[in-house]
Amino acid sequence: MLYDKKVVNILERAKAGIPLSKDDCIYFLNFDEYTIEASLMRSVASQIIRERNENSGIIIGQIGVETDQCPGNCKFCSFGEDHTSFQKWRISDEDLEFKINDFCKHDDLYGLYLMAMHNYNLDFYLETVKKSRKVLPKSTQLWANVGDSPLENFQEIKKAGISAIYHVCRIGEGEYTNLKPENRIQTMKNALDAGLEVYTCCEPIGPEHSIEEIVENIFIGIDLNCYQHAAMRRVAVPGSPLAKYGQITELRLSQIVAVVALASIAMSNTKYIGVHEPNELSYISGANIITAESGSNPRDTKEDTSKNRGFDMSTCRKMLYECGFDKIKRGDETTIDLNLDYLYKTESL
Ligand code: SF4
Repeated sequence: MLYDKKVVNILERAKAGIPLSKDDCIYFLNFDEYTIEASLMRSVASQIIRERNENSGIIIGQIGVETDQCPGNCKFCSFGEDHTSFQKWRISDEDLEFKINDFCKHDDLYGLYLMAMHNYNLDFYLETVKKSRKVLPKSTQLWANVGDSPLENFQEIKKAGISAIYHVCRIGEGEYTNLKPENRIQTMKNALDAGLEVYTCCEPIGPEHSIEEIVENIFIGIDLNCYQHAAMRRVAVPGSPLAKYGQITELRLSQIVAVVALASIAMSNTKYIGVHEPNELSYISGANIITAESGSNPRDTKEDTSKNRGFDMSTCRKMLYECGFDKIKRGDETTIDLNLDYLYKTESL
């Protein structure tokens, strides 16, 4: 036999809706990323997620609305106060409106994150949310990416027009960051208590992390019932202290994406799996969320990431198309046929 029967047994169970356990995840991540076992797992993950979602992908946007020297001081982030070259900056109303209109020109953006620093000013953030909601099409959801927050902040943020947050308890939280893992997890609980959805990610994965560490991190989100999950590799940001360890390859990242997808499928509403940064291998391994970015970005040293690492909307549409997705979904779950005509119409080719 080309591969172990155990591989088939676990994948057949996954096809029947039984998610990977922690032990299953460890088992699959112990295969090298180029093996038949890893490839088989990628295919099954991709098929399950595509079948749940009419073979559609979603495009989400992120706008960094401020930068500062951040006391979170994460050793992988370009804003960490001990190593950053960023100065305090806030987005202007004109720039915010311009960036939103740019993302939404063709009304195919599923959701938009407004990203602030760990220590953010709630009044400024609420104003930014309200201004954004006025400009955004109704078919685009508005989401928050902010630092650790109490319940009251999330209640206000929800009232202003936010429906979900992105939050993570990172691998090495408290060791490579000045933040406490328990506060990160409590923040996710606070958001859930405020009636917000919580989207999470296993991040930032570096070559030095053990398989067990990665799997434990994946299950933080699963145990909290975060039904939108993802994987992100750590980018070796020049000048950041952890850059010396380098990066995992996109091939390895896609294997982790497949494990995240197969471990998350117990939640019937898990239809969208993300990967950072976007790459084709992960879109044939279970991922179907692609992110366009503008403004500040912790993985970039340029003030406006859209001029450097960040993908624009055209690149996102084209990558989803090339990876075989038939449709793009909007935030109200309506769909757009993704074909060559659409790429020409949206100037994506
Ligand atoms: S990752 Fe977030 S909390 Fe950490 S330094 Fe960067 S902005 Fe601050």
